[in-house]
Amino acid sequence: MLVVMQNHATREQVERVVKTIEELGYEARPMPGEQRTAVGLVGNDGRVDASRIESLPGVAEVIHVTKPYKQVSREWKEANTIVTIAPGVTFGGDQVSIIAGPCSVESEEQIVAAAKLVREAGGTALRGGAFKPRSSPYSFQGLGKRGLELLALARAETGLAVVTEALDEEGAHLVAEYADCIQIGARNMQNYSLLRAVGRMRVPVLLKRGMAATITDLLLSAEYILAEGNDQVILCERGIRSFDTLTRNLFDVTAIPLVQKLSHLPMIADPSHGTGLRDKVIPMARAAVAAGADGILVEVHPSPDRALSDGGQSLYPDQFARLVTELRAIAGAIGRRVSDPPPMHDAREAVPAAAAKQAV
Ligand code: PEP
Ligand code: MN
Repeated sequence: MLVVMQNHATREQVERVVKTIEELGYEARPMPGEQRTAVGLVGNDGRVDASRIESLPGVAEVIHVTKPYKQVSREWKEANTIVTIAPGVTFGGDQVSIIAGPCSVESEEQIVAAAKLVREAGGTALRGGAFKPRSSPYSFQGLGKRGLELLALARAETGLAVVTEALDEEGAHLVAEYADCIQIGARNMQNYSLLRAVGRMRVPVLLKRGMAATITDLLLSAEYILAEGNDQVILCERGIRSFDTLTRNLFDVTAIPLVQKLSHLPMIADPSHGTGLRDKVIPMARAAVAAGADGILVEVHPSPDRALSDGGQSLYPDQFARLVTELRAIAGAIGRRVSDPPPMHDAREAVPAAAAKQAV
């Protein structure tokens, strides 16, 4: 439930609403806006009797949020949420941001080469898994902490923001020390203790759709993060399991405008895992931007044939560069713009992001 205050409501009137909500046994979230303040009521799993609140002085209207997810919904917040993962790297505005890089961090040489090619082509953020959620326990599991150190080094060399996955709460704290955005992968979309943990961390989160998750499931998972007080969440379509065996997943382009209608959070798309096939990644990336995605997550490797994971769906460097040029044209045709890489002088030291932030 959302309590919208009158334009000139006083601080005392807002406080009285907060107190009444708390007396009813719920949590109150005051949200000052440009025009007027709203107070969100959280903690209810059904309709709340609003009679005591509606009659309070200064209350303009009470809106019942009809969706099962509350804070994630457009009913709760109409304007887009802009998620800023690093200076100049945002999601949810006019710009379309490109996150690109290899599936996994494999070596210093590989990740620095990948970061350079991503930057040169016009990407804004570097991806690369240090902790890999592999279907088989015998597949390459990632370099762990060393992988994070290498990502920080690649960031220092190129100025790109870094997005990388955490598999558990301990890993999330470690990732937050080195990266700009914590990725929660498809396999962990419904790991509720991990979602709550990153919700408490106040670090931008990239939440990928589960392989068999409905859009409502995805939004409810995001709600776990917002319910803990972190609204810096980027959602990502990455394909769902289907009966067809010719592609790795069924890339659900419709999910992009659907989520954007239902939620104020930015929605990006990952055509690499979405299709699993290098030559299908390019048309699906174009389709995602044409459909209004707020960004693209794409796998590109300096030498895909030697990749330790997902080489078959990773673009060659020249393919990626061509794709970015095409995406610029597509974004321009629908009144948007592919964002520029962060300015080079923003390149930070090869120290953990958290340490760098403290130093500012
Ligand atoms: C990834 O992006 O590295 C990844 C493992 O993707 P997903 O969780 O979508 O399978
Ligand atoms: Mn991958």
